[in-house]
Amino acid sequence: MAKNNQHSRSYGDLEQQIERAAGAIRNARYLTAFTGAGISTESGVPPFRGPGGLWERYDPAMLELSYFLRNPSRIWPILREIFYSHFGAAEPNPAHRVLAKWEAEGTLKVLVTQNIDDLHFRAGSRNVVEYHGNSRRLRCTRCGAGFDADEERLSQLPPRCSCGGILKPDFIFFGEMIPEEAVERSSEAVERTDVMLVIGSTGEVYPAAGIPMQAAARGATIIEVNPSESSFTAQITDIFIQMEAGTALPLIDEEMNGDRA
Ligand code: ZN
Repeated sequence: MAKNNQHSRSYGDLEQQIERAAGAIRNARYLTAFTGAGISTESGVPPFRGPGGLWERYDPAMLELSYFLRNPSRIWPILREIFYSHFGAAEPNPAHRVLAKWEAEGTLKVLVTQNIDDLHFRAGSRNVVEYHGNSRRLRCTRCGAGFDADEERLSQLPPRCSCGGILKPDFIFFGEMIPEEAVERSSEAVERTDVMLVIGSTGEVYPAAGIPMQAAARGATIIEVNPSESSFTAQITDIFIQMEAGTALPLIDEEMNGDRA
């Protein structure tokens, strides 16, 4: 299945694409998924980038590690408001739930997410590679100890470790490396996958966007679910389902369970 530059652009109608996606998923030896902010917008989680994104309202500098470390008392109340009060009120949507169901059934082997909102976990997914970390845990900036980001821990800001160090959310800030374990586990997924679902990612944030690119280069079939074309669509997508994920994934699931196969 070598890719070439005359990549097929005739995606056909939606119903046909959903049938093709269901067939590819059913026949996959090692199905993986790669998700971005778009899967969570239907849950009310704003993306960072783009219209309506967090960077329209907040200064991205607050997520620069050195700036944060110099101003933890000023930045923590904003972090708590965005990532705990606001994200915490969001609920998984049908797209998160279908992915959790497919994992429980043994269909989906690994899910790599760029999201830090914890909604895959809360939907029941367990084999999740959190490429950018997560907001569920806090990490000591001095000794590296980890803590749950619970209400008690966040009642006094900035939260501190028993060693006296300032705690930060366990997702990566600007200037931080991708967690080593996430890099290793996503490389392994790329090596093993023959079908990758790409959901709600615009393909603009690197190195994360390299994951579907590498999977495609190794011959994996790419199924993309996005409401509009992304950087992936023309380059690597084999089956394009132009819909919101919360609508598309239940339709694919229904198609897989139907007897029209
Ligand atoms: Zn500490």
